[in-house]
Amino acid sequence: MTIQTRYNQVISQIRQAQIEFNRQTDDIQLLAVSKTWPASHLRQLVALGQTAFGENYLQEATEKIAQLSDLRLTWHFIGPIQSNKTRPIAELFDWVQSVDRVKIARRLSAQRPENKPDLNICIQINIDNENTKSGVNSNELMVLAEQITALPKLKLRGIMVIPSKKSLVEDQQASFRQAEQLFQQLSAAYSDIDTLSMGMSSDMNIAIAEGSTLVRIGSALFGQRTTPSKLSRVN
Ligand SMILES: *Cc1c(COP(=O)(O)O)cnc(C)c1O
Repeated sequence: MTIQTRYNQVISQIRQAQIEFNRQTDDIQLLAVSKTWPASHLRQLVALGQTAFGENYLQEATEKIAQLSDLRLTWHFIGPIQSNKTRPIAELFDWVQSVDRVKIARRLSAQRPENKPDLNICIQINIDNENTKSGVNSNELMVLAEQITALPKLKLRGIMVIPSKKSLVEDQQASFRQAEQLFQQLSAAYSDIDTLSMGMSSDMNIAIAEGSTLVRIGSALFGQRTTPSKLSRVN
């Protein structure tokens, strides 16, 4: 299958889910998760109209961002963050979706270049309280949000979740629903909150049904990843 066919399928799947679940058109963003794929593949998607890309590994992302610097793209960092790697993240990316501790937020704030717009931030929530996964626990969200909104050069936009794999649709729904409630709580407390980042290739419909505003899609767009990924959950 070509990238073009996959892209058209993903776009129409999102549209159909929007209609089926009564979501406003335009309110669901597609983030193309391009980890392990070379710049040439991203370029093909850009030619079809895609402009937002998500990357998990800094070194890999740095190369691609340089190779695609002739294009106007929006880059989201979505992987775990080591504190000694925050400077290039603050310099190269437009969004960081995987902030889960104040130390990282402080460093991103201090290291964001003066001449760049505020760095958009999502707080990653460990929605199913998994030992192996990054993210704050739900009850830590509001404290971290307060700390982040007090920092210069950062703009808190919402939350990101990666639920655990579950066999029952109802259980998947429950995690997404809980995330949606936390998102509402955050929106009520702060302005600029507009991003509920949830849903991947295998669960985007359920995520859209439960209120996702941004789906992070890798394999459904690019094909199965063959390179080993550090992410515990791959399709
Ligand atoms: C890899 C990854 C995705 C995309 O996963 P697919 O199942 O390939 O769509 C989404 N979000 C995060 C955080 C990822 O690491």
